[in-house]
Amino acid sequence: DPKQPFPDPSKKTLVILGAGWGATSILRTVDSSLYNVVVVSPRNYFLFTSLLPSTATGSVHSRSIVQPIRYLLRHKSHFVRFYEAECSDIDKDGKTVEIRRKTSDGQEFVQQINYDYLVCSVGAETQTFGIPGIEEHGCFMKEMWDAQKIRTRIMKCLEQAQFKDLDPETRRRYVHFVVVGGGPTGMEFAGEMADFINADLKSWYPELANDFSVTLIEALPSVLPMFSSKLREYTKSLFAKTNINIRTQTALKKVTSDSIIVEVTDPEVWAGGNRPRPLIKNLIESLNEQTNRRGLIVDDYMQVNGMPDVFALGDCTSTAYAPTAQVASQQGAFLGQLFNKLGSLDFEKPRVDRHIAIGEELDSAALISLANEKHASTKVFRPFKYSHQGSLAYVGHEKAIADLNVPFLDKQIHASGYLAFFFWRSAYLSELYSLRNRTNVLLDWIRTSLFGRDISSL
Ligand code: FAD
Ligand code: NAD
Repeated sequence: DPKQPFPDPSKKTLVILGAGWGATSILRTVDSSLYNVVVVSPRNYFLFTSLLPSTATGSVHSRSIVQPIRYLLRHKSHFVRFYEAECSDIDKDGKTVEIRRKTSDGQEFVQQINYDYLVCSVGAETQTFGIPGIEEHGCFMKEMWDAQKIRTRIMKCLEQAQFKDLDPETRRRYVHFVVVGGGPTGMEFAGEMADFINADLKSWYPELANDFSVTLIEALPSVLPMFSSKLREYTKSLFAKTNINIRTQTALKKVTSDSIIVEVTDPEVWAGGNRPRPLIKNLIESLNEQTNRRGLIVDDYMQVNGMPDVFALGDCTSTAYAPTAQVASQQGAFLGQLFNKLGSLDFEKPRVDRHIAIGEELDSAALISLANEKHASTKVFRPFKYSHQGSLAYVGHEKAIADLNVPFLDKQIHASGYLAFFFWRSAYLSELYSLRNRTNVLLDWIRTSLFGRDISSL
């Protein structure tokens, strides 16, 4: 009811930072009648990251894989407040967060929000390891604007390569694409890039047809470590056929405007991955309980060590799980249910125990242990348990690889090639956020196969 006061003083306030995989999964699950729910995120949309490499080459349109966060909030039973802003500080003692928003003319608005429960689902940044030149000359593959930048850069390079009287060596440089990192992001992008070259660019730029090349460099001895060795070998041989040159044990050391410097590496030295955002980095540095620089340490209920009533999930945490959408969304669903139970303890008093109901002043950890103690046989709150469904990646040439867990057979299935590609497409179509997303992506795939990708340098 829009006439209801917000925040309703009889309810606790749940503040959620982020609008990605983890945050949207909580929002889908949490009962918005139990809390004043406030969401803060610098972007007002959910990004389906799994298809981001496809948008960088134009196989899929960028707007097809995003969904405004207000779409989700509009479908909740009770009003949820959204602020497009960045959380810049968390005061755990005062139980407030500081949020900031810059307008296009440089004005900055700063506000505080009080919370009873806080969830950090702010994701992570791309790890650069301080490599010189990477920020200025390289392109990341993390956000929608990164994919758009890559696409424009590719087309600008192609037009530059066609400039009058360029010497052959310079021309070849403009159409040599180097992908750094043999994790799934790098491999999927390399596959998409090879498709773009073979299906479209060679016919639009026939003079460059023999000059195009894609090189993927990886510091470790092997690419795609999360996949079975059989699928890794399959991908390597497929890449060799499609002229993608994989160079393992080769680490990027420096990037300049027209070259990269690499070093053949000692495998032990290397460690890849995400790096925490400044907000998370500052929290880790300020708390004695936080000893891992990779992300926030949380307990089995995703409560942040050293921060009562603060929860964290997904890529901003440091857990035993890989930083994947699969993990973040399972954690989000778990937390949504946990908040529903916590909310019921507080407000539907007879439901669990009167003794717990009067414990409204207790923090989440005390409430959880009290509820579990009182109901030892049923354990109202059970710890989070991750269930790995498998790994799936597109590797180009209408082929994919899939390591799938089949729990009822208690075994893993390894699939590759066209069949895995159709599975990959159907899985991603079904996982997309809305019917609008699904329709758009399906139409994009049909459009690409009928007319090819657009080559405007927009
Ligand atoms: P995110 O989804 O990154 O969301 C973080 C949110 O926090 C964003 O809305 C951001 O705007 C917001 N935010 C940032 N800073 C602040 C702040 N200061 N205050 C408030 N909000 C903030 N995983 C898979 O399992 N399968 C895949 O196929 C897959 N494909 C991927 C492809 C690519 C190209 C990439 C980059 C990743 C892929 N991943 C995949 C990994 C997956 O995207 C991440 O693990 C997942 O996004 C983590 O979810 P999250 O909620 O922790 O963070
Ligand atoms: P990643 O951490 O999986 O891989 C990055 C790779 O880059 C590492 O192998 C690292 O050794 C290498 N690397 C880093 N710096 C380098 C340098 N200077 N020179 C050479 N090599 C360098 O990162 P990602 O691929 O972006 O994936 C991030 C997370 O998202 C992972 O957990 C991944 O599983 C998940 N993801 C999953 C899918 C999928 O399931 N299809 C797709 C994309 C991402």
